[in-house]
Amino acid sequence: MKKIWHAMEAGEVLKRFGVDVKRGRTELECQKLREQFGPNTLPEQKRRHVLEIFLRQFLSPLIYLLMIASLIAFSIGDYKDALVIVIVVILNSLVSAIQEGRAEASLAALRRLTKLKTKILRDGQLLEVDASELVPGDIYSLFAGDGVPTDGRLVDANGLQVSEASLTGESMPVSKTSQTLPADTILPDRVNMVYAGTYITSGRATVVAVSTGSRNELGKIAAMAGKTTQVKTSLETRIHNFGKTVAWASVAVFLVAFILGFLHGMKVPEIFMIAVSQMVSIVPEGLPVAMTIALAVGVQRMANRHTIVRKLSAVESLGATTVICTDKTGTLTKNEMTVVELAFPENPMRRFKITGTGYAPVGEFIDDVSGQVQTKLALANDLKFRKLMMAAVCCNDSHLLVPVDGSDLWRITGDPTEAALLVCAQKSGVEHRALKAAYPRVAELPFDPNFKMMATEHLDGERSLVYVKGAPEAIFAKCSSKDDGEKKLDEFKHLANDMASKALRVLAFGVVKDAKISADKGFDDFNGRIECLGLMAQIDPPRDEVKSAISECVRAGIRPMMITGDHKATAIAIAQQLGIADDPEQALSGSEIELLSDEQLSAKLEHIAVFARVHPEQKLRIVRSLQARGHVVAMTGDGVNDSPALVQADVGVAMGVTGTEVAKEASKIIITDDNFATIVAAVAEGRLVYRNIKKLLLFLFVTSIDELLVLLLALLFGFHAPLAAVQILWLNLVSESALTVSLIMEPMEEQDMRRPPITASDPLLDKEMLKRMPFMIGASVISTFGWFLVRSYSGVPADVVQAETFTVLVVCQWFNLLNCRSSSRPALSWGLLGNPWLVGGLIIANTLHGLVIYWKPLGHFFHTTPISVANFFAIGLVASLVLWVEDARKFYARRSLTV
Ligand code: ATP
Repeated sequence: MKKIWHAMEAGEVLKRFGVDVKRGRTELECQKLREQFGPNTLPEQKRRHVLEIFLRQFLSPLIYLLMIASLIAFSIGDYKDALVIVIVVILNSLVSAIQEGRAEASLAALRRLTKLKTKILRDGQLLEVDASELVPGDIYSLFAGDGVPTDGRLVDANGLQVSEASLTGESMPVSKTSQTLPADTILPDRVNMVYAGTYITSGRATVVAVSTGSRNELGKIAAMAGKTTQVKTSLETRIHNFGKTVAWASVAVFLVAFILGFLHGMKVPEIFMIAVSQMVSIVPEGLPVAMTIALAVGVQRMANRHTIVRKLSAVESLGATTVICTDKTGTLTKNEMTVVELAFPENPMRRFKITGTGYAPVGEFIDDVSGQVQTKLALANDLKFRKLMMAAVCCNDSHLLVPVDGSDLWRITGDPTEAALLVCAQKSGVEHRALKAAYPRVAELPFDPNFKMMATEHLDGERSLVYVKGAPEAIFAKCSSKDDGEKKLDEFKHLANDMASKALRVLAFGVVKDAKISADKGFDDFNGRIECLGLMAQIDPPRDEVKSAISECVRAGIRPMMITGDHKATAIAIAQQLGIADDPEQALSGSEIELLSDEQLSAKLEHIAVFARVHPEQKLRIVRSLQARGHVVAMTGDGVNDSPALVQADVGVAMGVTGTEVAKEASKIIITDDNFATIVAAVAEGRLVYRNIKKLLLFLFVTSIDELLVLLLALLFGFHAPLAAVQILWLNLVSESALTVSLIMEPMEEQDMRRPPITASDPLLDKEMLKRMPFMIGASVISTFGWFLVRSYSGVPADVVQAETFTVLVVCQWFNLLNCRSSSRPALSWGLLGNPWLVGGLIIANTLHGLVIYWKPLGHFFHTTPISVANFFAIGLVASLVLWVEDARKFYARRSLTV
């Protein structure tokens, strides 16, 4: 019988699975069930078999044409050429299939890097495990921002809202409760169930897993929807369209070659062969595969540098990024908080400085006026101090972990801002665990980045009281003027500002006596009722590597912008330290943004570097305004409310450590170390992928046009074809493949991060490339055709001239490869070894050519004869012309830049 979980009482569901909600499953049970049900994952999309990839290579008009050419050769009895064409085509397809297969495999491996974690109850212990380990009957907890790992029945739920868009298409979050429902309730209305693949937008819940893996509703949909295909990136589409245009150009080449050959009196099958091979040489057939490899390599390189790419299109958007909007806490700063000052709203005001660093609860409290160190006893007898510490400890979800195994390393779990408060309390002698136990928490309003505060309700004997903490303005705005007289509060506000302008993160604390938390009324219930208890200011030092990453960003024409929930004064102070802003006028606060129209905001944007006290919702407006000004925006985010902005940004960047699953789902990339410098490194990788593809394009184009011009010139001058058709095919389809990958693997050039970002309108063949092409093509044509002319006129036998001309062309290609590595640095000025693929590619290409020339059986098929060693060296010298010419051009180009 099909179990209708939503129609059963939660207790009944637990009974069916035989689990206790306080203990969860035992590890032993889980092992057995995992064997029975398998892991909680969807079956991986079946990867294409290498054979399939190989066979697909044959589905191209070019290959059809070559097959026709082979048939024609066969029909006129030219069996050798017919066979060679078939072999060359097979070899080419084999190399392409291997490369494509590898690229696909590495992309698939990288996709597996994003793993969902879940907080579950096992053997009575709360653990965090991979969602793939869950089995039916597991008890797990869900909090705002979490992803739901399995279909499950709610055991209890508190203010739970779930975004089920991925399952039901409903864009608004659905409220959920644990009450039992009628059996005929349809899936979207089953509010006592949660479903795998959906996300918690607010509240918390305890769930019992009812199914796992492909038995989840999501699994059923996935099975129905069949294969999901990666959408082509815009660069892939451009390359694809570019290939199509070139294919048409190649048809023209075919016709011209055919007509010229005909006029020259060549036999039709011979002309056909030559014309087809020329056509093949023009079409950059290796480009789509090279593009896949370039993206795969880029994604792999990023993974090695702490970036998980979720959507391939991010790679190119990163290369084009013009603004990076970044959070402050944890991304620019270390998120290692230490409370260094505290103050009480008294008259005259009392302040303490606190010594000590890190999370070790060792430090002293020094009275700011007298300079005296306070003893623990004095602090314990200080009622106001005790009240402040109670608020700091009770309104707190973090934990301070005592060092274990003889180490002296204190660790924390939870939010560092809150853990720093526990450390501070412990430094003053307050035993925070005992305090928490003495005042049990009965309700809470979790930290809300819109209100910038948090509240917890506690039992104090018969009474209940609510502690609040949050941004000073947020707390002050709700303080009772009765207790805290306006003047005293004003003075206190100034103090909070002073602290913030020293780059400190400031929190205010308060208490509401005899109050209860109501989920409906929220924080507004405390308006005018809060008694202010004091302020605590924390330092959060900037990350060491960020300053240089910011300068790199600026040099690369990218604007770093800070968007933070923190105070304007704190934000601008940190921005100034890091070089993001140099003037306090460059900061705008959330409340100031509210007063601006879209046009006014847009006009201000070019001048602003810091947005402070911003609500997550305002991030969306900022991204849109920047995009309207033509910017390509990378935007970081971690919370649930950040997701609209993350989706809107050209590159949404989720934080791997502090980020919620919702934010990760909305993002194109995930930064696993939450570090700004990593985003800059990812931008560099994005640029590298694009630049390397352009280097490859230049190389392929120059080589193709060389071959074409040499043939056309020879025919125009009344000679026989300087290269045999099979030689051209060999060159383009076999030996070139060995070289193309090496350009894709080129390392970063320093200047890549000194240039402006790549614009969307940047053509694939840009001005600079078009300027370089005549030099490279001219030099190789002079060498190749020149050699052909001189040798032909010197009475050298035609087959030797052909083998030599073939070799000149090949060697020119090798030198051109070196030319294409950089647009400004001389080919020989930098280490070949910087790119081992290049060395490998050249060795393979040399070997292949050596075999064709010197290995008789192969030479027989390719119409070549061995060349004398002296001539081989002479060819090397002549072909190197292309290197010297391009190096001279680079030299003059560099000089004209510096003059
Ligand atoms: P960023 O957006 O750069 O990460 P942030 O972490 O400072 O900046 P929020 O987390 O939105 O931004 O915090 C905004 C303000 O809310 C802080 O300046 C602080 O005053 C207050 N605040 C932060 N965390 C808590 C918390 N756990 N409880 C109460 N108030 C908090």
